[in-house]
Amino acid sequence: MTKRTFGVIGLAVMGENLALNVESRGFPIAVYNRSPNKTEKFMAERAVDKDIKAAYTVEEFVQLLERPRKILVMVKAGGPVDAVIDELKPLLEAGDMIIDGGNSLYEDTERRTKDLEATGLGFVGMGVSGGEEGALLGPSLMPGGTPTAYKELEPILTKIAAQVEDPDNPACVTFIGPGGAGHYVKMVHNGIEYGDMQLIAEAYDILKNGLGLSNEKLHEVFGQWNQTDELNSFLIEISTDIFAKKDPETGGHLIDYILDAAGQKGTGRWTVMSGLELGVPIPTIYAAVNARVMSSLKEERVAASGQLSGPGKTFSGDVEAWIPKVRDALYCSKMCSYAQGMALIAKASQEFGYDVNLPEIARIWKGGCIIRAGFLDKIKKAFKDNPQLPNLLLAPEFKQSILDRQGPWREVLMLANEMGIAVPAFSSSLDYFDSYRRAVLPQNLTQAQRDYFGAHTYERTDKPRGEFFHTEWLD
Ligand code: NAP
Repeated sequence: MTKRTFGVIGLAVMGENLALNVESRGFPIAVYNRSPNKTEKFMAERAVDKDIKAAYTVEEFVQLLERPRKILVMVKAGGPVDAVIDELKPLLEAGDMIIDGGNSLYEDTERRTKDLEATGLGFVGMGVSGGEEGALLGPSLMPGGTPTAYKELEPILTKIAAQVEDPDNPACVTFIGPGGAGHYVKMVHNGIEYGDMQLIAEAYDILKNGLGLSNEKLHEVFGQWNQTDELNSFLIEISTDIFAKKDPETGGHLIDYILDAAGQKGTGRWTVMSGLELGVPIPTIYAAVNARVMSSLKEERVAASGQLSGPGKTFSGDVEAWIPKVRDALYCSKMCSYAQGMALIAKASQEFGYDVNLPEIARIWKGGCIIRAGFLDKIKKAFKDNPQLPNLLLAPEFKQSILDRQGPWREVLMLANEMGIAVPAFSSSLDYFDSYRRAVLPQNLTQAQRDYFGAHTYERTDKPRGEFFHTEWLD
């Protein structure tokens, strides 16, 4: 039998669909899953008439593959990835490569890359975004790790990735950088995804509970927003569909029956932790993670709602006039959120030696992934025009867009405030903008206090930076 070009370990949602994607591009596949019943089910239900061979032991799986072996591991992140690597390692030969396509923590990927490279094997930590459908039809791929391994994989990854219109390269894949670079960028992608989802939820809250829009009207408004340059995106598109979806059980709108307690798996929290560690402010993403945490305190909130009242104001203005203002507020906040995410990637790239190409990151997010959006073209252009751009908000187009819309953005926040509607990600975005654009912040007082109680010293506005002073505050 001819050897297989590509192997997949892990036949849950993502592994199954990626295996079928690779096979559909003309590459013979071998698959293996720890529990054999899953392999049997996959072979019987989805692999009939496909060029896919199943193995029931890791040894048999490895023997099926042509050299250098290319093995995609799609198992639960954490310990399971190490368990699979430990099983594979003694069976592989120099030049073979393992790809971890799960949502692994980038620090784990750094460690695994070092370990495997030291034994002559290649390791590629690859972020995969797009969920089940993306995996099958074309995800956005963020591979990092051993550069020579990536070169071997490039012809396959280029074919299975989402394809978009782009003069530079239509395939939504690029080599992100060494070590854990790919998983780092995927982590920030997910952080931005948290931000986008929370911002959309806040726009929905204002429109529905502030302005009183029906689900039919929300469907119409979101449908229109999806046609705009600013907001055209996968998440606005699926929200449009969601507002129209009926519940077969009650006949009402399904959205009204879904419990308001959001789950999370950790990549948003990791992004926030990395922002804090690297000293990059990412308040919108932090607010989005917090909003999910707050939402999950459902029973506590229900009890509190009977005791703590808000301002009790109801809206009495022109609804049609306010809808575009909410759209502007959403767009301004979104620009701030992406500015934060890109700044975090830039800092990590510097700190960890990833040498990330920011225009390429924006390009590969244009298709396949959850945050795919029309305005990523503008982000790509901004960093291409000025690779040293310190912040997205300083790129000419973004600067003008935010300056033109800051009036309605502030009005929407005041309206939400008056009505007692929480808008943590909108507010954090405006705070980010107002802090970043101000030459002087009140941390002179913070420094004075630190010096007062802890002799932490301070710098002076009338002396060069780097000269530190201490005052005996109590005579
Ligand atoms: P999953 O539910 O995260 O993992 C299930 C798979 O892991 C099964 O094949 C399971 O094998 C295997 N597994 C668990 N522990 C194992 C161990 N100790 N040794 C060997 N295999 C083990 O699957 P998924 O949803 O397809 O996700 C796979 C990865 O992709 C995860 O890291 C996930 O975060 C990431 N991801 C998921 C999505 C998504 O939309 N689902 C999107 C992007 C990325 P058994 O059948 O034997 O239990």
